[in-house]
Amino acid sequence: MHTRLLVIQEVDSGESGKALREAGECLRKGGLVAFPTETVYGLGGDALNPASSKKIYAAKGRPSDNPLIVHIYRWEDIYRVSSSVPAQAKAIADAFWPGPLTMILPKSEEVPYETTGGLDTVAVRMPSHPVAARLIEYAGGFVAAPSANASGRPSPTSARYVMEDMEGRIDMVIDGGEVGIGLESTIIDLTVTPPQILRPGYVTQEMLSEVLGRVDLDVTALRADSGQAPKAPGMKYRHYAPKGELTIVSGPMDQVAEYINAKTDAHKAAGEKTGVIGTNEALAEYHADVVKSVGSRQDELEIGKRLYRILREFDDENVDCIYSEAFDTGGYGQAIMNRLLKAAGHHVVSLGDKGEL
Ligand code: AMP
Ligand code: MG
Repeated sequence: MHTRLLVIQEVDSGESGKALREAGECLRKGGLVAFPTETVYGLGGDALNPASSKKIYAAKGRPSDNPLIVHIYRWEDIYRVSSSVPAQAKAIADAFWPGPLTMILPKSEEVPYETTGGLDTVAVRMPSHPVAARLIEYAGGFVAAPSANASGRPSPTSARYVMEDMEGRIDMVIDGGEVGIGLESTIIDLTVTPPQILRPGYVTQEMLSEVLGRVDLDVTALRADSGQAPKAPGMKYRHYAPKGELTIVSGPMDQVAEYINAKTDAHKAAGEKTGVIGTNEALAEYHADVVKSVGSRQDELEIGKRLYRILREFDDENVDCIYSEAFDTGGYGQAIMNRLLKAAGHHVVSLGDKGEL
């Protein structure tokens, strides 16, 4: 299959508007189109067409028990995909939609089990990216879209990475530039009391609690030793895994740098290529072959935005083992640590008093 790459500057300009309509038409006919959202690039298909959802799983190599998120572009369409919309859903939609927040609700009959991975619940999100919003409208209003990476690779933050994974497997890729956030949406389950965050993201536990009162976080989001299975089926898979072996080192910064250097020196002596994911504040300390900065410790948004790109770059450079600094496990740091822990298969070394994990 030839994959067309369409570059969109502004959704309303003549050429781009035409391209978006074409992409919408392709989705209506059961095709697959990757598109930018404010979180990461999504791989879209018609959410109400079982054949489209099956094609999404095939293109990604995704296990079919891992449900897809249904994207809508206006509030009232939530009643088409969910049979029971609680007041809490309206409250958080008013606060955070359109935006990087997904809610789990009871599904309606119209949503096929192929889209929900066999579950009676459905994940719904209204993205804020103008290209995404317009494409969903042109596609008929309901676009199932997981992240547009091949299963097991980091989610793509630019069209280049989508093409890397999906060229030849889908009909179109819409290039709308680099994404703003870089980590997937927060997922909150509203079918349980109190509501539970299944995947931390840009909309934090604190932000949700301000609207809903008590909100819990799935214990598996930040710990591997809870002995429980994650509530979001997709979270049990080792996503985002770089090819090199990744270890997270937490603790006081001077001890972290010392530990990482001792390890990378030893790996280098054994002929292995070593890498470090560090912050600007400590970057000059490291001895590894490839040292990459995720940004400043003071700027978590930047860290989230760079993380997946850096993991992909390590793959391109064929690094054998990677060590990463740890990040705070409060606020937005929860989302960063959750993705990093999954990339590392929860392999964490805690040093000194401050080792929190
Ligand atoms: P992705 O779109 O690739 O970011 O993945 C979607 C995530 O949403 C996966 O982790 C899924 O397991 C999760 N998800 C989608 N639908 C549901 C649902 N009905 N219940 C729980 N988790 C869901
Ligand atoms: Mg994904």
